[in-house]
Amino acid sequence: MNKQDITSIKQLLSTTKKIVIVPHKNPDGDAIGSTLGLYHYLLKGGHQVNVLVPNDYPSFLKWIPGNDAILKYDSQTKICQDIIEGADILFTLDFNAFHRTGDMEKSLSESKALKIMIDHHQAPDDYATYTYSDVSMSSTCEMIYHFIDMLGDVNRIDQTIATCLYVGIMTDTGSFRFRSTTSTTHRIIAHLIEKGADNTQIHNSVYDTNSYERLQLLGRALTNLNVIPESKAAYITLSQDELNTYNYKKGDTEGVVNYALSLDGIVLAAIFIEDKKEGIIKISLRSKGDFSVNEMSRAHFNGGGHTNAAGGRSHLSLSNTVDKFISILPSYNKALNNE
Ligand code: 5GP
Ligand code: MN
Repeated sequence: MNKQDITSIKQLLSTTKKIVIVPHKNPDGDAIGSTLGLYHYLLKGGHQVNVLVPNDYPSFLKWIPGNDAILKYDSQTKICQDIIEGADILFTLDFNAFHRTGDMEKSLSESKALKIMIDHHQAPDDYATYTYSDVSMSSTCEMIYHFIDMLGDVNRIDQTIATCLYVGIMTDTGSFRFRSTTSTTHRIIAHLIEKGADNTQIHNSVYDTNSYERLQLLGRALTNLNVIPESKAAYITLSQDELNTYNYKKGDTEGVVNYALSLDGIVLAAIFIEDKKEGIIKISLRSKGDFSVNEMSRAHFNGGGHTNAAGGRSHLSLSNTVDKFISILPSYNKALNNE
């Protein structure tokens, strides 16, 4: 995004617009935090703004200011389609290809609205009039902060906006520890706290609201942990039956893959989660150092993401998906053992 783009966007936002903001399917903390942070900023500018999400998200994100205004495409399809059709501007946040919005793909790709993409994933599609894409960024929330700053409105950041943006920076950086966390990230976080973001409350609301069943499910997952020492790899499986036993709710498996990565000497971690309703195995991949799980996911699991965190899916059975993972590992052994 260059100076000219910012000038054009400033001009565009100088009169009241109908604006739609959309994150990816199965929105996470960064997706909800960035859409709501931008939502509050644009509301302050006098615009008519709607946040439309493809589907539901975990309850540990449902306290974020503005949550009650969010519309869900899968259960409120007609209203959402009408809002998209009437939009002047469409912001797409925390994803960079329409297929990442699931069933919303058609409505979004047919939309005549001017499109602005703000995202930190690799290999962006070319659908937006204005593309702010930066894979070095910790989070889309950090980019929303820079975006507001570039528009000259950093003083408009209040406690509400600060709270939303804090959530996404915190969740996408694993509480400020992943490699993408920079001194600038910390300066932004410091500023958000000065603006009123309550770091302790935010952390508690996202991480310390576990149910007993969620912890039992984590226990099951850790029991299912397998290690492949020659590939410095570890993986976890969770079948639909196991999820049912522990009354699985959306978000319950968030972060579980990191336990596999925390094993001493492990460079690559995976979790395979059976979803019988969708007829897929959802895959999350994590790595350390320069080993790119984004590339592995693109090549083998219909997915993508970042160098050290990527996701994908498989239409094979759970055990066949694991077999496939194990069978491709030898071709990566050299890279994995170089880390
Ligand atoms: P997670 O494993 O937490 O679902 O996702 C890790 C990262 O990979 C996130 O940045 C997410 O946006 C991305 N990701 C997850 N699933 C997919 C997918 O199916 N396709 C693509 N392109 N990216 C994904
Ligand atoms: Mn993100």
